[in-house]
Amino acid sequence: MSDISVRIDQVRSKILDASKKVNRNPEEILLLGVTKTVDVDVMEEALKCGITDVGENKPQELQRKYGLIGNRARWHQIGTLQTNKVKYIIDKVDLIHSLDRMALAEEINKRAEKIDRNIDCLVQVNISKEETKHGIFIEDLENFIRECARRFERINIVGLMTMAPDSDDEDEVRSVFRQLREVSDYIRDLSIDGVVMKDLSMGMSGDYQIAIEEGSTIVRVGTSIFGKRNYNI
Ligand SMILES: *Cc1c(COP(=O)(O)O)cnc(C)c1O
Repeated sequence: MSDISVRIDQVRSKILDASKKVNRNPEEILLLGVTKTVDVDVMEEALKCGITDVGENKPQELQRKYGLIGNRARWHQIGTLQTNKVKYIIDKVDLIHSLDRMALAEEINKRAEKIDRNIDCLVQVNISKEETKHGIFIEDLENFIRECARRFERINIVGLMTMAPDSDDEDEVRSVFRQLREVSDYIRDLSIDGVVMKDLSMGMSGDYQIAIEEGSTIVRVGTSIFGKRNYNI
């Protein structure tokens, strides 16, 4: 067996353990393979091992790889999305995880209108308020979502995404995930037209088990499957 297949099995078994621990059905958790900087050959191998969904953070890289892999994978835009790059991915992505400002929502809506499709988006929330992190602050989230739902017919808000702080303090990380879960429940209870809070994209290589215990439905795993990234590719 290849390294990749061994690593995917390891991650899957940890997903299973974490779900069991809190009595969750592991099938409600999507393992998103984060393939930024990963070669297409290696991605092909991951697809053979049952990875169905891949996440990229650079629109042009997504576009290039999509040209080679196409709809044999489902494509996710993760990480900051510049407004002027929406056009590269709008007809390729299944889910945008990083809706974090009104200007971006406007652009996604406009581009989606042009190709006559609706785009599923997660609103990125900056819970820890670290300056290096993007996302809407919790206290602004309700208004942001209400305005998006009112103004942008082509955007389906289907959940929330966050990044945990870079911290070894498990309690701090857990608390961030828990807050995302709680605010998602709060928004769901508002029953805003056109908004469903079905997905919580939280958890990366270092913390996906904690995220699953706190209710994650999408874990974004790169390093634990593909090894350390080489940004020179
Ligand atoms: C790179 C990246 C990941 C994956 O991180 P790993 O620690 O390699 O698993 C997840 N989410 C986002 C937004 C990323 O940019």
